[in-house]
Amino acid sequence: MEKKTPLIGLTLEGLRRVVTDCGLPLFAAKQIARRLYVNRATSIAEMTELSKQARKRLEENYEVGLTPPLAEARSNDGTVKYLFPGVGDRNVESVYIPDGERATLCVSSQAGCKMNCSFCMTGRQGFHGNLSAADIINQILSIPESESLTNLVFMGMGEPLDNLRPVLDAIEILTAPWGMAWSPKRITVSSIGKLRELKTIVETTKVHIAISLHSPYPSERASLMPVEKGMSIKEVLALLRNYDFVHQRRLSFEYIMFRGINDDARHCRELAKLLRGFDCRVNLIRFHAIPDSDLQPCSMAQMERFRDQLNEDGITATIRASRGEDIMAACGMLAGQQKQQQPDDRQ
Ligand code: SF4
Repeated sequence: MEKKTPLIGLTLEGLRRVVTDCGLPLFAAKQIARRLYVNRATSIAEMTELSKQARKRLEENYEVGLTPPLAEARSNDGTVKYLFPGVGDRNVESVYIPDGERATLCVSSQAGCKMNCSFCMTGRQGFHGNLSAADIINQILSIPESESLTNLVFMGMGEPLDNLRPVLDAIEILTAPWGMAWSPKRITVSSIGKLRELKTIVETTKVHIAISLHSPYPSERASLMPVEKGMSIKEVLALLRNYDFVHQRRLSFEYIMFRGINDDARHCRELAKLLRGFDCRVNLIRFHAIPDSDLQPCSMAQMERFRDQLNEDGITATIRASRGEDIMAACGMLAGQQKQQQPDDRQ
């Protein structure tokens, strides 16, 4: 049987094409969008504002397209990692992070990644394909906590700006009045900083931007993030200086701290110099050791010294709480493995 096309992941424009294709009136597109993204329909049969005949026509080639997680792993700290089908036989992961009133979902945008950052398990696997907007929206709609989500971060597997169109479509669905009507302030796109795509996302959306920095020195950054050789952080910063990050949205920089690599006073001073003039925040992130890597986490005391020095130098810096380390869900640890946690693992 031929596979049907999922309706989730389609923007209003895409749904208009669908209804035209099925010979339905254009206004049906908004009705379908409402059913998909507001009422969370799981089948076309639930779209009862459409005539029986219209639903039948839709069902010939389309389906809602929700796919539940293949597996889940629960951390002692409440974090939940979900496994979803990705591209081919490569699965992807999403991480649900409850934190008081906040409930954040970290979504994946690609199966694997081309960027090959030395500290990242996803980068280790190489690139296996881009997720569609349907795959991205499915991660949001299919988890049990979907309706209680307050925030979304594109910080899961893959480089979101390397898969721009589906990421933009997902943002449109999340923020449009005909879609989920979220404020863009609830969404953050985290990137290594692909210049052309970064410009597009800054100019066409109002989401928050987070840039992976990790070292203020080009040669050291290049050894952690090979992308530096083709697209330097200086070029990324020069681009970002053209935009308003005071009123419109938040700009942050991610800085994973590695023992003896980027964690001393010299790096701190240089980082403050590099970011001078930006209204931004630096998120200091504890490194989580990964197999076959010499990189080591630095101590919390060292991270606190680094944070305090940055704050003294006029750069707002915070230490991001590490979540889900026991289920390999923390920063840099996502690998798309199909491991279902057993009750005994949770001791
Ligand atoms: S850190 Fe991000 S950009 Fe780098 S390899 Fe991992 S997923 Fe890709």
